[in-house]
Amino acid sequence: MSEHHHGHDHHDHDHHHDNHFTDMEARVKALETVLTEKGLIDPAAIDAIVETYETKIGPRNGARVVAKAWTDAEFADWLKRDATAAIASLGYTGRQGEHMCAVFNTADTHNLVVCTLCSCYPWSVLGLPPVWYKAPPYRSRAVIDPRGVLAEFGLRLAAETRIRVWDSTAELRYLVVPERPAGTDDLDEEELADLVTRDSMIGTGLALSPEASR
Ligand code: FE
Repeated sequence: MSEHHHGHDHHDHDHHHDNHFTDMEARVKALETVLTEKGLIDPAAIDAIVETYETKIGPRNGARVVAKAWTDAEFADWLKRDATAAIASLGYTGRQGEHMCAVFNTADTHNLVVCTLCSCYPWSVLGLPPVWYKAPPYRSRAVIDPRGVLAEFGLRLAAETRIRVWDSTAELRYLVVPERPAGTDDLDEEELADLVTRDSMIGTGLALSPEASR
């Protein structure tokens, strides 16, 4: 069974930011083409840098938030009640007008984040959104068939696990707090943060086990 939670009525607000992105993307593409033709850049190097920001550098803020929540019950409670303030206390703040909501996975509930209308994403904690997050198939199917989408990411949940799907908006962004993996009692906050992947904070993955991260 799955539920679809609308944080906001998605049709109420202006999504003009996406039009800017289209324009921005066109300009970036034009620049890349000119620089490549002049032999000044290697597109493969650009791809590698973008990949690094999507998967490594960007999501580190979120990983530190999750690791702190795993080790500090008071912080976890604050994160649950007022994610915007708790996250800002670590120095991670979004653009004006964005509010954060942290949704915690439990033994019987798994959370998944999507933006059905465009690509709203928690930039301040996860950096750049992956290409698939912005793609129509993910945006539509995450709501209709979340279990099937998760299976395609290699995440097979028990049939009795409930999946809650959270629809992001320009005003409200979600961060999934995955469950702390077993066998991590001896790890410090920094080591724990290394187990927190970008996908685990979107909900398309789980935190790594200590063995898997070695
Ligand atoms: Fe959006």
